[in-house]
Amino acid sequence: MRNTKSQEEMTPEEVLEICRKCGARCCRYVSYEMDEPENKRDFDDFRWFVMHKNVNIYYDTDGDWVLEFLTPCENLTADLKCKIHENRPMMCRGHDVNECEEHGEGELAIVRFDKPEDVDKFIKEKGIKFDNDGNIINPEVLKMVEKNDDNKTFTK
Ligand code: SF4
Ligand code: SF4
Repeated sequence: MRNTKSQEEMTPEEVLEICRKCGARCCRYVSYEMDEPENKRDFDDFRWFVMHKNVNIYYDTDGDWVLEFLTPCENLTADLKCKIHENRPMMCRGHDVNECEEHGEGELAIVRFDKPEDVDKFIKEKGIKFDNDGNIINPEVLKMVEKNDDNKTFTK
C-alpha cells in the first residue's frame, strides 16, 4: 500500500515503522548489474552463478540483467533496526520508502533464474541457438525476450 506522505514529511520513527512492517526487505540482499549474455559461455556462467545458494539472476523491466545475492546485512538487528543508522552507506540513504521495491512502482523481473535448470529451460523454450564458436546465431530472440513481448513478470 502506498504511503500518504512524502519521506521528507515523515519523522524518522514513521520511516522506521514503515520499514519494520515490510520486514526490512532492502536490507536483505545485494545485487549487481551484469552484462547482457552474448554467447554460450555467458549462459554457462549464469548456470554457475545460480548453482550457489541464495544467488539468483533476473532481467528486469528497467532493461538490466541483475545478479542477486539474498543475504541480510550484518548491521540489521533482530528487531529490524540499522546498527549504523547515522553512518549507513549512500546506497541505503538512496532508498525512499515511497519509491522502494515495497511501495514504489519498482522494476519487475521479466526473466528469472533461481537454479541452473531455469537457464537450460530458458534457452530451450526461447529457441536460442549457438554456432560452433558458441555465439548466439539468433540474437533477435533475446531482444524479443528483453522487450517482454509475452508481458510476463515475476517477483524479483
Ligand atoms: S525502504 Fe522500502 S523496501 Fe526498504 S525496508 Fe523500507 S519499506 Fe522496506
Ligand atoms: S547498513 Fe543499515 S540500512 Fe544499510 S542495508 Fe545494512 S542494515 Fe540496512
